[in-house]
Amino acid sequence: MATYRVGILKGDDIGLEVVPVAVDVLKAAVRRHPEITIDWIDLPIGYPSYIDCGETLPESTLEALGGLDGWFLGPIGHMAYPRDDPKAINPHPILRRQFDMVSNVRPTISYPSVPSVHQDVDLVIIRENNEGFQPDRNMFKGQSEFMPTPDMALSMRVITRRNSSFVAHTAFKMAQQRDKQKRVTAIHKNTVFKLGCGLFVDVCREVAQEYPDITFDTMVVDTFAMNLVRKPQVFDVVVTTNMFGDILTDEAAGIVGGLGLAPGICVGPKYVMAQATHGSAPDIAGRGIANPYAMIMSGQMMLEWIGKTRDDAELAAAADKVARGVKAVMADPAKVTPDLGGKNTTEGMGQAVCRAIENL
Ligand code: NAD
Repeated sequence: MATYRVGILKGDDIGLEVVPVAVDVLKAAVRRHPEITIDWIDLPIGYPSYIDCGETLPESTLEALGGLDGWFLGPIGHMAYPRDDPKAINPHPILRRQFDMVSNVRPTISYPSVPSVHQDVDLVIIRENNEGFQPDRNMFKGQSEFMPTPDMALSMRVITRRNSSFVAHTAFKMAQQRDKQKRVTAIHKNTVFKLGCGLFVDVCREVAQEYPDITFDTMVVDTFAMNLVRKPQVFDVVVTTNMFGDILTDEAAGIVGGLGLAPGICVGPKYVMAQATHGSAPDIAGRGIANPYAMIMSGQMMLEWIGKTRDDAELAAAADKVARGVKAVMADPAKVTPDLGGKNTTEGMGQAVCRAIENL
């Protein structure tokens, strides 16, 4: 009998709709495996937390997360937070750094029933999460963006051997586990960023030596951006630095039907966090039409990850049920939300997945 503790951090706007639906789906799958118990722990975060306790990321939330096996982080609508209050911070870069979640794993899968630019797409992009050009992540103290004069802004990028090696290992292990092309492609711009991208690619090449069963190749980011639009089917696992990955994962979502179809997890040596690629979508919040797919599948990936790292076949089987339930619902255009061409609500789509899981 295994017991896990999983956090629920709903986030903002559509997070308040899609996260509870995703939790319900995971509960439906876990109910099919009585050997597993999950204690679900609600923790305050984001704007609702700011209203309740004056902070978007309370210390009590940070402390509680350290004792969990994993957690959901809903989308964070930080652009709407008060600009002048240091207690209204964007929590997600802090969580990614504090819990050393170096790899952001973002799969892209096409579904025959969903109108999309391409079909037969099944790739995964592993993005370094905690350094790169992102100024809120790559310094111990201070900002790596600054303005020496009102007419000049400087941004600095950080690339380390340690994090490049970590994401490379995540990518090669993923390529081994996937029943696909057994290929890892490192995306870079070492033609220009000779030191930063140079180090990243060199480290990926070194790590590749440890995985002789996996083919390794590299591609310049601009060429990859074009090939991703023209022929995404040729890619299997892709590994890249933070900002390239941020942009390319949205592009990848765009070719299979949009951000509602872009799940992800953030993982490090110890922690895993389910976090979809999309933002808090204030334009559709409160209308019950947000697509819960990305958040459900982020939860599925989190369960799968915990199952693998704890060697728990039951938990992995529960995760597999979530994936199969979602696949069954995605095959029926009547059961999906409007962004995918359907007429269902967020809750309705979630309930359809729960029923599919119950019938597996
Ligand atoms: P967004 O991802 O929230 O929305 C972009 C477009 O995609 C919108 O038209 C939205 O309606 C649609 N969309 C997104 N998720 C959807 C879903 N599940 N179902 C159906 N449609 C969906 O990006 P934005 O509008 O640029 O940002 C809104 C807020 O979210 C901002 O405060 C931004 O900073 C924040 N943001 C947060 C994250 C995160 O928490 N990881 C990521 C990106 C943006």
